[in-house]
Amino acid sequence: MQFVEQPADILARLDALRAADAPTHGGHVLSYVYDSGLAELDELAAAAIRVVQPVNGLDPTTFTSVAVMEGEVVGFARDLLGGDDDVVGSVTTGGTESCLLAVKTARDLWSGSGRPRLVAPVTAHAAFQKAAHYFGLDLDLVPVEQDGRVDAATLIARLGPDVALVVVSAPSYPHAALDPIEAVAAAAAEWGIPCHVDACIGGWVLPFWPGLEPWDFRVPGVTSISADLHKFGYAPKGVSVLLQRGRDRQRAQFFATTRWPGYPVVNPTMLGSKSAGALAAGWAITHALGRSGLAELAASCERSTVALISLIDSIEGLRVVGTPVGPLIAVATDATAPAHRQVDPHHWADQVRAHGWLLQLQPGLVQSDGTQLPPTTHLTITPVTEGVLADLSGALVTAADEMRGVPGVAPADVFGALPHDLVASLSSPDAPPLDSATAFAILAGIGLESSDAGGLPDRMAPFLALVAALPAPLTERLLTELVARVVEPR
Ligand SMILES: *Cc1c(COP(=O)(O)O)cnc(C)c1O
Repeated sequence: MQFVEQPADILARLDALRAADAPTHGGHVLSYVYDSGLAELDELAAAAIRVVQPVNGLDPTTFTSVAVMEGEVVGFARDLLGGDDDVVGSVTTGGTESCLLAVKTARDLWSGSGRPRLVAPVTAHAAFQKAAHYFGLDLDLVPVEQDGRVDAATLIARLGPDVALVVVSAPSYPHAALDPIEAVAAAAAEWGIPCHVDACIGGWVLPFWPGLEPWDFRVPGVTSISADLHKFGYAPKGVSVLLQRGRDRQRAQFFATTRWPGYPVVNPTMLGSKSAGALAAGWAITHALGRSGLAELAASCERSTVALISLIDSIEGLRVVGTPVGPLIAVATDATAPAHRQVDPHHWADQVRAHGWLLQLQPGLVQSDGTQLPPTTHLTITPVTEGVLADLSGALVTAADEMRGVPGVAPADVFGALPHDLVASLSSPDAPPLDSATAFAILAGIGLESSDAGGLPDRMAPFLALVAALPAPLTERLLTELVARVVEPR
């Protein structure tokens, strides 16, 4: 066959495209990527992916390698998370899929009438909002305290016969708060309500974190746990586990049908045909690292986290939110400092970025009880952080010095570019849905139309101010437009 383009040219172009990405190695991106710092581990993962490249993970009875690898990964995770042999599980393509399936399972097992309700702290990952939307549950989001932790009694007071599932996090993504899992799971068990622990980010690192109260299957009443191998399991993207206590519970996760003229379908997860690549990579990594390797990497994360918490707390005008549990930190303005000495966390993140480090901006939130969670900046710490700690610390301090006293972006500054009556009419509850041309024109009006390379502006603080200021449905529509346009053919 004469190819239209030559493989070497195609790969050269891919290399050029990759060079424009945020760096996936080296510790300069403090979210999205989880770098063990061990090149041999990346190579092992790549080799494992290559071996199973042609396999269809749809059918572990035809491709028996999939059954063996999945069983071993689930077994490893079960031991790690305190499960006995009543705990079974599935490998999924990621945290979102694990969370979706936990909710789907609970909905299908719920025997009440009317609409089922999902109760979770407002800090529960957005995947649970998606799950409630996809699977038709009412979402009951419970306000959290200023330290990001939900009060057990407040959450427990929301339980009732219409609740199909209660979700708690170990820890939460926004603030690294470990929810009061023992108390919530015990109350849920009394009601006969299943309790899911979302350990997508913590599942492969908290087992090695010192001084924690029990939060896994050792806690009676915990019925399922999600834990992502593609986070602190250091696997490439596309692999997570969902463990369920009780075979009968887990069987409700499956979809099976023989009612079509094709092959009998039995899907434990959302996809049909699927890659076995990330499973093979995750499997290989768990075998290479074992518990001792994971423990060593967790210890490195912990040393860096402790150092960064004390550094950030020593920066005038900033503070660490609550008591982070695990290798992630949320940073907010220290409102006890005089106004001219305060540091806005989003200006700080933008300035840290100018120094070559990518932090993640998180918007503030008005909770359902009217209390306000402040805007924050998120850092995820990985093993590779330790080797760059001095440089990173320098950038964090310098950026704070450069931004100290600069007030946060006021919504009026962002809306300035938009006609006032347009904002008012768009924000009205009975405004018609935005068409994509109008949405795009608004994005352009505020300077947010994406560049040719699809990247976002250097300064994200104005963007986050917009997210916080506009009504959520409008922002969500604008963000949909932004992301949809990014991938449109050019
Ligand atoms: C990352 C994460 C998820 C979602 O996982 P994806 O792999 O991004 O789909 C869910 N919950 C928590 C706590 C997470 O950190």
